[in-house]
Formats: sequence, C-alpha cells, structure tokens
Amino acid sequence: MNDFSPLKSSPDFNSLFAGFTPLASEMVPLAMARGRVLASEVVSAELLPPFSRSTMDGYAVRAADTCGCSGLEAAHLTVIGAIAMGDSAQELSLQPGQAARIATGGALPELADAVVMVEVTRHQETGAVEICRPVAPGENIIHAGEDYAHGAVVLSRGSRLRPQDLGVLSGLGITSVPVYRRPRVAILSTGDELVPADQTPSPGKIRDINSTTLAALVEEAGGIAIAHGICGDDFDRLLKVCTKAMEEADVLLLSGGSSRGQRDFTHQVFAAIPQGQMLSHGVSVRPGKPAILARQGNKSLFGLPGPAASAMVIFYCFVRPLLRHYAGLGATLGLSSVRAVTAQPFPSAIGREEYVRVSLSPQEDGALPLATAVYGKSGLLSPLVRADGLLPIGQETEGLGRGIEVSVLLFP
Ligand code: AMP
Ligand code: MG
Repeated sequence: MNDFSPLKSSPDFNSLFAGFTPLASEMVPLAMARGRVLASEVVSAELLPPFSRSTMDGYAVRAADTCGCSGLEAAHLTVIGAIAMGDSAQELSLQPGQAARIATGGALPELADAVVMVEVTRHQETGAVEICRPVAPGENIIHAGEDYAHGAVVLSRGSRLRPQDLGVLSGLGITSVPVYRRPRVAILSTGDELVPADQTPSPGKIRDINSTTLAALVEEAGGIAIAHGICGDDFDRLLKVCTKAMEEADVLLLSGGSSRGQRDFTHQVFAAIPQGQMLSHGVSVRPGKPAILARQGNKSLFGLPGPAASAMVIFYCFVRPLLRHYAGLGATLGLSSVRAVTAQPFPSAIGREEYVRVSLSPQEDGALPLATAVYGKSGLLSPLVRADGLLPIGQETEGLGRGIEVSVLLFP
C-alpha cells in the first residue's frame, strides 16, 4: 500500500483501499495461467532436475583421473559404455580409470563427478579415450536438485506468472495452480449526449469514447471488462442498470455525471445502491477532481469524470491500484517509470496533485530523454494519443522549472 503513488501527498483513496480484500482464488490449468497471480506459495515436492545431468557432449569421468593431464600428457581412460538419452545410468558405475560417453542432458553414471567436453578428448580405436584437459569435481554437471531441492520455495504468493514460471511448474509436474480470480469490471457510460460508436451522431450528440478506453484499460490491468453500454442522465434508469450490473461485477466504472451539476446523478445513484456506502466525492487530482468512490461490501463503484483524460488519470491513480489489490498484487500503481528532463517549465497550482500528459524524445550522448508537455483541455483526445506517459507534480510543488530531472509514468 505504501508505494501506492509516486507522490507523498497522494490521493485520498489510499487509506480507503485498506477495507477491500483480494478476491477468492480459483484453480486454472497452466495454459490459462500466464499473467495470473498466484494465490498460494508453490513448494517443490521433488528434486529438479531429478538426477544429475551433463551440460556438455563428452565423457563422464571421475575428476581425480584427469588431474594434471594436458595435450602432451593426456590421461588415458577406458570407455565402459555410452549413456543413451532418456536412459537411467544406473547400471553403469565408474571405477578409477574409466569413462562413459555422455550427451548434453544425459544422466550421470554412479561415481562419476564431472564431464569432460568432447572437444578436449581424443577417441582411440582401442575403445579408450585420451583426456587433454583436467576437470574439477562438479564441472559440466547440473546436480540433482540444483534448481530446486525437496521443499524449496519455487514461487511465492502474489507473483504474476510469467512464461518461465509456468515452465518450472510443468517441470515439477504441477499442471494447474491456484490464482486470484480476475476482477469483473462493469463499464457504463452516462450522458444524454452519447451514442454508441457504431452510430452516426445527430447534431448535439457525440460517440461514446470512454466505454472503449476503459474496457481496454481494464483488460490491460488484468480485469475482465463487462460492457453495459450507455445510459441517459436519468436517476431511476441509472440506479436500475447499476444495481443489476453490480450483481455480477466486482467493480463498476460509471463515467460521466460525477460532478455536482443538475444532470449529474452518479453520486445519488451510488448513495442509493442497496448496501451502498459513499467513501469519497472529489479528489485533489488534476485532471479528474470530481471522481467518486463508493463500496458495496467488498465491491467498489467508481464515478469517473466524463472527459477522456480525466477518466484515464483517475483510472491509473485509483482504479488500477484497486484492481491490482483485488488480484493479489497489492494496491500499487504498477506502472513503470523513466527518468527524464523537463523541456520547458511546468506550471502547477499548490494543493492538488497534477498529472501532466508528456511526450518523451530521446537525446544524444546518453542524456536523459526530454519530457515535453502535450497540453490540451481534458476533453481533447489528441494530446492523449500523442503522449507517452504522465508526469506527476506533487501537491506541495508550485510547478517545475526547465531542465529539472523528473520521473515520468509510462502508459503500459
Ligand atoms: P460529465 O462528466 O458527464 O460532466 O461530462 C463531461 C464531458 O465529458 C462532457 O463534454 C461529456 O460529453 C464528455 N463525456 C462524458 N462521457 C463521455 C463518454 N463516454 N465518451 C466521450 N465523452 C464523454
Ligand atoms: Mg454528463
């Protein structure tokens, strides 16, 4: 929770998230588990690898037999056999002066403690081998259990499963894992002016933009987006649609109508939802000030401001951390950041946290990239399309000068 925001003076929702708990877990097969978050620790019940293996094509030997040998004074060893891939080497046991032919990944015979790579050996017609370079015990071998011993912690709870993690699990014979359920996020747009994207708006109307952006943001953050389309600015209809949406969703994102205007009903709707509880109306974040957070048990309801940039900033600052918290990752921003240098002054008022849309341009000679503001009203879309990320400016900071080193949060 502590690194919830890159800024000290951060969003008021931070402490409010403490009341929400991660979602229940479910078992999923490995093929469905990439990107999911482990809900319990995975401990190895076996040795990995299960037997000591060669990492080279060559000869399994007793290292002591190669001591002091060289190209001029090769060690002569008797070859007692070859270990076929996939065979256990149990029937082979090396006595002093003996070697066995082995391939990469082959099982080491008993009493062998090293492998000499084939490039430093000379095969003799007599069935002997000359070793031209000494090996130390353990050389060119992966020991049984060297990756994971019996009882070793392989992956900890809360890890997001990557391809290599899934590989390890299959190596241990674990074919399904418990992961946190993905939060189901209902998305609804409100506004009498809105029409669906596939319609031609009549004069005075505009197409719904937020439904599409928010659904993509939700999916990127690991949630499941459930589209509920558009609802007019009508308290009764909104209450009905929101109540119904909450039956199957963990989170509701209602964009539009979150201010205190005459046709803004989000606040009243959230207050009237069965078992609903208002947590906050308004945040000291710009853009995005009129955001709303409410809860219904462990479920959350967000009222997002309608302008595209405001909705997006509130999503990154508040919704995304809560989705991550639900998914077992902790209530953090989870955005990567880069160091950059301001290309211009960034004015900002004291008392609210500002998230300025910036574009980054690389500089010569390994200098940090330049961050240039792509200013524009919060309802404009083109600045968002041109921006690479957000430059946060803290509540206590009255703007930034030119040439200042800053951290820019990158859009994922
Ligand atoms: P509101 O938050 O309802 O006061 O809306 C603020 C501005 O955002 C208005 O210009 C709305 O037309 C616009 N807006 C609200 N919702 C959407 C949406 N889903 N897609 C595009 N623009 C929207
Ligand atoms: Mg509106």
